[in-house]
Amino acid sequence: MFSKTIQNLIDLFSKFPTVGPRTAGRFVFYLIQSPKEKIEELIAAIQDLKTKIKYCSFCFNPFDTSIRSSTEAHSKSSDQAEETLCEICKNTIRDRGTLCIVEKETDLITIEKTKKYKGLYFVLGGTVATLKKSDVEKLRIKELEEHLRNPQSFGIITIFKEIIVATNPTPEGRATAILIERTIKGTLKNNLPKISHLGLGLPVGGELEYADEETLESAFEGRK
Ligand SMILES: [Zn+2]
Repeated sequence: MFSKTIQNLIDLFSKFPTVGPRTAGRFVFYLIQSPKEKIEELIAAIQDLKTKIKYCSFCFNPFDTSIRSSTEAHSKSSDQAEETLCEICKNTIRDRGTLCIVEKETDLITIEKTKKYKGLYFVLGGTVATLKKSDVEKLRIKELEEHLRNPQSFGIITIFKEIIVATNPTPEGRATAILIERTIKGTLKNNLPKISHLGLGLPVGGELEYADEETLESAFEGRK
């Protein structure tokens, strides 16, 4: 039986994704033997997440509001965009006619690393196992509808020409892809963009974040 203080922190760490009580216990004992400065550094870094990181109003990718490029800092007109849009959405050189819908933030990062994709993203916030209402409500489907219908009110002026559904090749990813397609078709029925899916090559049942860059690149090139 651990003391109340130790058990309390173990319980908190156990709520982290993929962390069970055993790993949580290791974290706690690591912290117990860490110097005070390290603990303070950790506390400050966690607090920074809440004060400096914001969700992008368009793609929902969390971004660091404390980073400003020198040109933007001098331009008052971009103040608004600076506050709400991430680096990707703010970048006018990117192809705003293409939207890639991913399950989670880490998938966006994985795709960005290939440097092959130049369009915009939308982070759905997870997957669904079924198309039941209670499951669907956990995702940003309402937001997706609003963003597709009226991207300019979220800071992006565009007409989507292609939407890439880049969910993982897992059963949940497929169910989610059906839901996304249904949402696109229902929302943009009068001006339907091309809807494409990542090409073959991705390991079945695998996840985008574990695919190597070459595989992911060819999946993008082979999209249909
Ligand atoms: Zn963004």
